[in-house]
Amino acid sequence: MLKGIAVSSGIVVGKVYKYVQPQIVLQETRGETASELAKFKEAVAKTEADITKIKERATGKLKPEELEIFDAHLTMLQDPEYQGQIEMKINDGSNADAACQEVTDMMVNMFSMMEDEYFKERAADIKDVGHRLLCNIIGVKVPDLTTIDEEVIIVASDLTPSDTAQMDKNYIIGFCTEEGGRTSHSAIMARSLEIPAVVGCRGILEGTKDGDIIAMDATTGDVIVSPSEDIVADYTKRGDALKAEKEALKVLVDQPSISLDGHKVEIAANIGTPKDVDGVIKNGGEAVGLYRTEFLYMDSVDDFPDEETQFVAYKEVLERMNGKRVVFRTLDIGGDKKLNYFEFPEELNPFLGYRAVRLCLDRQDIFRTQLRAILRASAYGRAAIMFPMIATIDEFKRAKALYEEEREKLIKEGYNVGENIEVGMMVEIPASAIMAEKFAQYADFFSIGTNDLTQYTMAADRGSKEVSYLYQPLNPGVLTLIKKAIDAAHKYGKWCGVCGELASDVVAAPILLGLGLDEFSMTAPSILPARKMIRSLNYEEMKGLAEKVLDLESQDEIRAYVEDYLKNR
Ligand code: PEP
Ligand code: MG
Repeated sequence: MLKGIAVSSGIVVGKVYKYVQPQIVLQETRGETASELAKFKEAVAKTEADITKIKERATGKLKPEELEIFDAHLTMLQDPEYQGQIEMKINDGSNADAACQEVTDMMVNMFSMMEDEYFKERAADIKDVGHRLLCNIIGVKVPDLTTIDEEVIIVASDLTPSDTAQMDKNYIIGFCTEEGGRTSHSAIMARSLEIPAVVGCRGILEGTKDGDIIAMDATTGDVIVSPSEDIVADYTKRGDALKAEKEALKVLVDQPSISLDGHKVEIAANIGTPKDVDGVIKNGGEAVGLYRTEFLYMDSVDDFPDEETQFVAYKEVLERMNGKRVVFRTLDIGGDKKLNYFEFPEELNPFLGYRAVRLCLDRQDIFRTQLRAILRASAYGRAAIMFPMIATIDEFKRAKALYEEEREKLIKEGYNVGENIEVGMMVEIPASAIMAEKFAQYADFFSIGTNDLTQYTMAADRGSKEVSYLYQPLNPGVLTLIKKAIDAAHKYGKWCGVCGELASDVVAAPILLGLGLDEFSMTAPSILPARKMIRSLNYEEMKGLAEKVLDLESQDEIRAYVEDYLKNR
């Protein structure tokens, strides 16, 4: 079995269609300058027509802002600077194909070296346009996904946005690529088009040939080449069930997250980048409960992102959430999250070391820049802010004081900042859960990070296979701490959420609801299944269930108890 990253969910079995770019062999002989120039001009016209045709085919399938990519491609192709440089090289004695390749490569290099993320990403677009142009100059056929007329799973090294846009969902039932990550263009388009996809699947190109059958589980990232009959039957059955389930859940997009007896909770989304907001809106997320801002820092190549870069990203999220709450978690770096441009001290236990708010309180320059960016963006929506890894009251007070200082400074500088910004904290260190009653007097809200709270409570590294048996978010010890945090928040009139993975665990939902949790924050595709679960439960009854499970002795007993309850209700 091969393993990749599941980026767009679905479970499919199908025939492999290998989508491999043609071998480009540059011409050795050169025609007259005039004929090389004419060849180039003809190729430009053909490329223009091709891109326009692809755009037409994609119209209706893609959103207007996604279609804009083709206009951008046309603009690049028609750019007088780009064409002028190629013509100059031809006039200087180059072949049309060599001139095109050289100028394209130079532009790709230039854009990929730029600091600005936007321009960096444009490098891929120039490569795409340049490749299409080059194929037309030398007269090789650019593979055309639109000619596919039977059900297939595309296997490729990577896919460009124009490849993905050409896909007809009636025939292309999924794709699997060797390269790519969660935020690569093809992954984003796959989610948008709802084509099941696994990316970063090492070995898929070498391990398959055209016509092979593969079974692909794009919920887990598992890909099986030449599956047995049993596996085919299992994948087909699970795939059909998943499809039917997803379809049926769509009716809940605009529905409230409310229990049978009228108790309302909020189901919010966890995001890492502004692009993730699409999924939040599509799945009916009521807020962003956790914006992991460190992704912006990890994507940055050679330095901490400056105030302006952060401001632009944060503002985009707030504007697109249109008045719904966005909880910005300040930089949570360290542990397993490293930066290319920052040297962390050598430590025996980085998860217990110099990270998150500890680092921010030490490196106030970095922290203040982020606080300013969040505060400036807060004028464009409903921002809330929370500090990660708070262990002591003193840390919370110091972080909040820096926030207040930056707020005052910005106001003096004449900036608009949002009113009534809630300033809360993550509860993910056992000491803060135990001391929750004290913290609740200072923080406006709690968001329980069950991923780390479990790791620290059970003293089991969340990434270790060897001790994974101890990584138990439903252990009564962890649940007792969760209850403590929720009760303390409520005692002081504050709200409490969970933004760790436990929030989307449908077996945990009855317990968390019964404990009085106000907000469940999770990855966007989990929202509707969670809402369905909440809407099927009775809050008063769940209070009893929560009390009962807290009295049990182990995670296994608790799981079994809730599963049994859900099965027999
Ligand atoms: C957590 O610890 O539960 C959490 C939500 O934060 P992260 O997973 O980013 O550490
Ligand atoms: Mg955490």
